[in-house]
Amino acid sequence: MRKPLVAGNWKMNGTRESARTLLDGIKAGAMAVNGAELAVCVPFVFLQQVQEMLAGSPIAWGGQDLSKEPKGAFTGDVSAAMLLEFGCRYVIVGHSERRTLHGESDAEVAEKTAAALEAGLTPIVCVGETLEEREQGVTNDVVGRQLDAVLARVGSAGLGRCVVAYEPVWAIGTGRTATPEQAQEVHAFIRARVAADDAAVAEGLKILYGGSMKPDNAAELCAKPDIDGGLIGGASLVAEDFLAIGRAAGGN
Ligand code: PEP
Repeated sequence: MRKPLVAGNWKMNGTRESARTLLDGIKAGAMAVNGAELAVCVPFVFLQQVQEMLAGSPIAWGGQDLSKEPKGAFTGDVSAAMLLEFGCRYVIVGHSERRTLHGESDAEVAEKTAAALEAGLTPIVCVGETLEEREQGVTNDVVGRQLDAVLARVGSAGLGRCVVAYEPVWAIGTGRTATPEQAQEVHAFIRARVAADDAAVAEGLKILYGGSMKPDNAAELCAKPDIDGGLIGGASLVAEDFLAIGRAAGGN
């Protein structure tokens, strides 16, 4: 049985003050979230504050990106070891905003996944098609290619230590959600692709849905057999919305 995970992606939002209020709110309601794990992936500069506030709570935390390099002359980058030092369990890898705004290739995403795994972090590997690709009917080709790059680099054993997030680019931050059926179809495709390599890994793999998941659509999405929770952008910035998604994903 896969325990659902609901991970917040704060993106580049917040101040020390608003982060404190948000974390206080999430902590206050976390005990009522049964059956799902909660995590927040925050801007690097908030990691110390998050570690101080969430240590000992049931809520995990992580970064939103990492360098594929362990150290050195890489101005602006942050290594896996640095994230670990601040207590991170997770790191988002290959978010569509990194792929499009920072030109991250499938190969680079695979290298970052490997770097995270080598350090002992759990990468949340994002895959997903653009609207144009969906309309061209190549969703599975795109998602399959993105997944295969990671599989080729870390193998199915490595992928078994990752979380995968299916995030249709056209649904991210747009208020336009994939229907539960559309999402389930791609999630089932991802699981089948992994199963072709290793059935046990596929069975245990958490596949999150991301793209305008909100309190009012989370239960229906998470009820699908291959949807194991969500990667939440906008709604993760409102404690009650994030908690409501967590409760829905956990079936309570
Ligand atoms: C995301 O950025 O990963 C995301 C899913 O954003 P939103 O929930 O705002 O669509």
